[in-house]
Amino acid sequence: MIAVVGASAAGLTAAQTLRREGYEGPLTVIGDEDLMPYDRPPLSKQILSGDWEPSKISLPCTVDGVEWRLGVRAVGLDVTGRRLALSTGDDLAYDKLVVATGVTPRRLPFGQELAGVHTLRTLPDTVAFKEELASARSVVIVGAGFMGSEVAAVASGMGVDVTVVDPLPAPMIRQFGPWLGDLVAKLHADHGVRMRLGVGVTGLRGEGRVDGVELADGTVLPADVVLVAIGSVPNTSWLAGSGLSLTDGVDCDSLCRAAPNVVAAGDVASWTHPVHGRRIRVEHRMNATEQGMAAARTLLGKGEPYAPIPYFWTDQYDVKIQAYGTFPEGAVPSVAAGEVGAGRFAAVYVEDGRVTGVVGWNLPRDTRQLRARIGEPA
Ligand SMILES: Cc1cc2nc3c(=O)[nH]c(=O)nc-3n(C[C@H](O)[C@H](O)[C@H](O)COP(=O)(O)OP(=O)(O)OC[C@H]3O[C@@H](n4cnc5c(N)ncnc54)[C@H](O)[C@@H]3O)c2cc1C
Repeated sequence: MIAVVGASAAGLTAAQTLRREGYEGPLTVIGDEDLMPYDRPPLSKQILSGDWEPSKISLPCTVDGVEWRLGVRAVGLDVTGRRLALSTGDDLAYDKLVVATGVTPRRLPFGQELAGVHTLRTLPDTVAFKEELASARSVVIVGAGFMGSEVAAVASGMGVDVTVVDPLPAPMIRQFGPWLGDLVAKLHADHGVRMRLGVGVTGLRGEGRVDGVELADGTVLPADVVLVAIGSVPNTSWLAGSGLSLTDGVDCDSLCRAAPNVVAAGDVASWTHPVHGRRIRVEHRMNATEQGMAAARTLLGKGEPYAPIPYFWTDQYDVKIQAYGTFPEGAVPSVAAGEVGAGRFAAVYVEDGRVTGVVGWNLPRDTRQLRARIGEPA
């Protein structure tokens, strides 16, 4: 029996690939959400804005002969004995295992329990947040990464007073550095979103329900609702004591192998990228699909070193930002197509004389074409 733990993009793709590649044996997918697999990127975009009904984000679960165990959590793993402990009390024997348990939002060390304080990872999270946003006058978003930035764009379109707070000097700076970050900051300012950058959050105020956010400079921002969007933590606590190496998610080799007969895929997996020569972990939708496929093939003895060019996109207002490759801190961006002033451009990032990544701003075709330059001399 092959068991897949995690019923989302990576786990579903792994299950589909196993069948497509000829595996005919028993296949069980275990997922702790009550829902069949659905797509997460629209949560902070079309679902939050109300443009789409939730039914539109169901992933096509066209895979034969799967036993779906939904609403069930894996709580332990015995790699040597090939057994999974489940939240139902069952002890499940498997032959091969796919770990695809994704990540969980990081929480603030204070105030997170107050009513009105949200994180956003699941469909129920989004429905609950959307409901409160609809009657709120003000929202404070803690964290100016891609999620905080996307939610700021949607919330400002709903007529809510939006403030984004981040200790770093620009939004999405961790992904793309200060140059693009400054452009994103301007985009938000142009839409009336207040950016409180370079200052951290030190506390949440309110009794029972949040009513304010305290900043390190002494300011208190009024807040009817707060979204905490400060990154994620890999879901590996259930693997403690399993013997798997868990330095950054589930540590894997270049074929996505974490142990004999155990592979990992998606947001939870860090693997040795053959081109970069070091382990990386990618929290992007496209990687969940591609790595789900790669890991499944490895389990069937058809594996190859997994060497994708990472791809990521984000939608904010009428801007689609697309990114291929990697954006190390020292990489220098330069515009290679279009014009920044025209609101349509693509930029290549160069480090040590080589192109490491390409970012496009409302210029999909050129961005895709420039992707071929990654790894080449600048
Ligand atoms: C709001 C939002 C917007 C996003 N937007 C973009 C975007 O614009 N572009 C982009 O590239 N990416 C985006 N992403 C990231 C993308 O959705 C993820 O990379 C993708 O969902 C990863 O898929 P996964 O299957 O690896 O993990 P997940 O989707 O996290 O799925 C893991 C599943 O495993 C379950 N699980 C965890 N532990 C256990 C356990 N012990 N037992 C059983 N089940 C368990 C989890 O509940 C979950 O259902 C976004 C993510 C979010 C949340």
